[in-house]
Amino acid sequence: MLEPVLGALADLVYPPHCVACGCRQPSGVWLCADCDAKVRRLDGPKCPVCSRPFDGAIDIFTCPNCRGETLHLHFAVAVVRAEGTARDLIHRFKYGREFTLRRVLGDWLVEAFDDPRLADASEAQLVPVPLHPARLRERRFNQSEALADWVARRRGLRVVQPLRRSRPTVTQTHFDRRQRMRNLRAAFALRHNARVKDHSFLLVDDVLTTGSTLDECARVLLEGGARSVRAITVARG
Ligand SMILES: [Zn+2]
Ligand SMILES: [Zn+2]
Repeated sequence: MLEPVLGALADLVYPPHCVACGCRQPSGVWLCADCDAKVRRLDGPKCPVCSRPFDGAIDIFTCPNCRGETLHLHFAVAVVRAEGTARDLIHRFKYGREFTLRRVLGDWLVEAFDDPRLADASEAQLVPVPLHPARLRERRFNQSEALADWVARRRGLRVVQPLRRSRPTVTQTHFDRRQRMRNLRAAFALRHNARVKDHSFLLVDDVLTTGSTLDECARVLLEGGARSVRAITVARG
């Protein structure tokens, strides 16, 4: 009863508007239809493992990202391309501490479950990629955790955290794969008492670039006896 009243009051104080272009919107709409339509979904041909979009036929043997790699992650489903509005919103969410953007990004992430390969994911547990405590202090919240919570509520899934960040890593935006792997070495470990054996996990992150962070998380979970590790991300860089 209180919630709708508070919601209506909030609308009076902060009139609802599109988070991308600022146009006025009805209550409960966070991204206007025009802005949403401009965000490109990854619904064309893409790598079945890392979701890298590709013009023409592609498979794990020809994907420039996966070719020749031994991956632990079974596959990752990304929903939108990390460009334009999507990239801006993710940037504001992650570095601008705009927690409220989890609504828009989380709703996109829910679309990952339209992928038939996740039809059996109802028993999977969501695992947000953990942030190192120092990074968490700087960002105020863990963006992967905020997204996992949003998806969990909408899909009736559980969020668990069997992983911990065992040492800080440097931002690896400009690293190649080898540098990323070196940077990530021993970056994650299983938490004491983590229940991993025979469980299926869905890792959650905002963006997949090369997939090396998710793959390192998958490696640790599989070493702990996990049955399967897949991933969902909002965007594909
Ligand atoms: Zn808009
Ligand atoms: Zn690939």
